[in-house]
Amino acid sequence: MRTVYVNGEYLPETEAKVSIFDRGFLMADGVYEVTSVLGGKLIDFEGHRVRLERSLNELGMQKPPAFDDLLDIHRELVRANGIDEGMIYLQITRGSAGDRDFAFPDEETTKPTLVLFTQNKPGLANSPAAKTGIKVISIEDIRWGRRDIKTVQLLYPSMGKMMAKKAGCDDAWMVEDGAVTEGTSNNAYIVKGNRIITRQLSHDILHGITRAAVLRFAREAQMEVEERAFTIAEAQEADEAFITSASAFVMPVVEIDGTKIGTGTPGNVATRLREIYLDESMKAAV
Ligand code: PMP
Repeated sequence: MRTVYVNGEYLPETEAKVSIFDRGFLMADGVYEVTSVLGGKLIDFEGHRVRLERSLNELGMQKPPAFDDLLDIHRELVRANGIDEGMIYLQITRGSAGDRDFAFPDEETTKPTLVLFTQNKPGLANSPAAKTGIKVISIEDIRWGRRDIKTVQLLYPSMGKMMAKKAGCDDAWMVEDGAVTEGTSNNAYIVKGNRIITRQLSHDILHGITRAAVLRFAREAQMEVEERAFTIAEAQEADEAFITSASAFVMPVVEIDGTKIGTGTPGNVATRLREIYLDESMKAAV
């Protein structure tokens, strides 16, 4: 049984409880982060911590009292659950005021809820999907306008994942005004020659922590990076396509809406970036 963390306590998962009045449950009034664990160490922890703080600030949500102890809490959960490869899920909500009300509760009397738990995923870095690549479909992006805030409003991304499954694919790329925004739970890229193209940062997409690292490594490896929007048609004609996220790292995309990308197998750029990302981020892991 897992040991999880709830508001200052380490508990067996069956004993961990959150109120039915919690605003995360009633209003999706919460933010989250997912940090990967490789070799028992945290990947890109500082990036996730900084983005979490930004999400809280953007929503005017106070930090939980344990905010400054988050690294220790992550490490204790890795230790207590013997995680070698996997993820740590963290969620902060605006807490429970003991009733339902649209207005935010008084910060003095209602403290945020902080929950963390581990997900054990042996073989995460050696995923078979990275060798074959994944297939995506395109769907309309009908999410709200502040996708740069990592909120727990994940209903539409979940529906997108189900639409992909139903179509015999692995994921969906979302399209707004004719251009790809991002994947349901990842950032989207295409490759043309030595040039990597990915949508520019704005309120339209999540500012991926893996995206930031991968673009830095790409530039260091003398690849060209162009941050701009692209269409599904452009992606279908590209040499390669891939996605990035904290749990998928760099994952090749080999088919979009039934059209093979390049040779229909993982491309050299995506494969190389995956290797560089895994090597460098494991070296820097805490
Ligand atoms: N976009 C969306 C919509 C996501 O949900 C995620 C992962 N949570 C990402 C991009 C990738 O972000 P990161 O690299 O920080 O995991």
